[in-house]
Amino acid sequence: MADTIKTVVVEGLGLANQLRDEMKLEIEALLAAGHRAPHLVVVLVGDDPASQSYIKGKQRACARIGATSSEHILPESTSQQELVALLERLNDDDGVDGILVQLPLPKHISPETIAEAIDPAKDADALHPLNFGRLLLGNAKLISCTPLGVMAVLERHGIEIAGKHAVVIGRSNIVGKPVSILLQQQHATVTMCHSRTRDLAGFCRSADILVAAAGNPHMVKGDWIRPGAAVMDVGVSEVDGKLVGDVDFDAAQGIAGLITPSRRGIGPMTITMLLRNTLNAYLARKNIEPPRNGAEPAS
Ligand code: NAD
Repeated sequence: MADTIKTVVVEGLGLANQLRDEMKLEIEALLAAGHRAPHLVVVLVGDDPASQSYIKGKQRACARIGATSSEHILPESTSQQELVALLERLNDDDGVDGILVQLPLPKHISPETIAEAIDPAKDADALHPLNFGRLLLGNAKLISCTPLGVMAVLERHGIEIAGKHAVVIGRSNIVGKPVSILLQQQHATVTMCHSRTRDLAGFCRSADILVAAAGNPHMVKGDWIRPGAAVMDVGVSEVDGKLVGDVDFDAAQGIAGLITPSRRGIGPMTITMLLRNTLNAYLARKNIEPPRNGAEPAS
């Protein structure tokens, strides 16, 4: 019965800190073996305050695990050609292991062109078509950070995925599509919903695992949630100066089996997976140990 369920609220921050401690130990071991620390470069075009705060958070996270980081903050007027030229220099720089171009980009710069300009081996947010294609084929070396964060939360909380019905709201290249592919590779039956889906509530009600990544505040009502479902609230929107998720968090209490809150939920996991990707990219490029593979083969 729905009213007997005690909803577990999963603070992604706790798991993020645990994973960061594990990476810190890995980097200490690398340094002790005479290797250098992995290095992430973040590129920002323009002076969007939210983006500036995101990149500061990424740099703090790098420092915490003993990785190095640097930033390139370019003026809004930077041309696509200039940005591509910078990426080419970073691609050629052997001291750079991970490259992340902070989105959104100014309108005159094509995110697709920029994704293709990053060396796939240094592509910390895995948006290059080669990395996306490898994800589809099930042999990805680098996978987009937020989907990896969602999968890590499910895995570390022992949520069974195989044979379950997973519903993903959102079909973006950065969240909805890759998380759908990862869930399917872990043998879930996946329904991908989007802005044209009819009867979204009906799909949600049959979800054992519900991933909400639409950016539509409190869209998922309590009675859309199947009792006991694992609910991953990825969406972040600002309403009256407060950050809120796609799920009506209060209404989900006593119905969801497990839920991530909009603050300190998936966000810290995204940054953690950016660190993981940078570390994996470094290990793979330097042939220090085999990179992690994202998924078991699907059948
Ligand atoms: P996006 O705008 O690129 O894609 C949104 C998707 O949601 C689209 O596919 C659209 O079809 C779907 N959608 C929108 N409104 C809908 C509706 N009413 N019903 C059904 N589907 C609907 O956004 P994105 O980059 O994928 O990000 C999604 C959300 O996740 C945003 O709120 C973003 O801020 C957040 N986000 C959070 C993190 C994090 O680390 N927590 C990381 C990335 C994105």
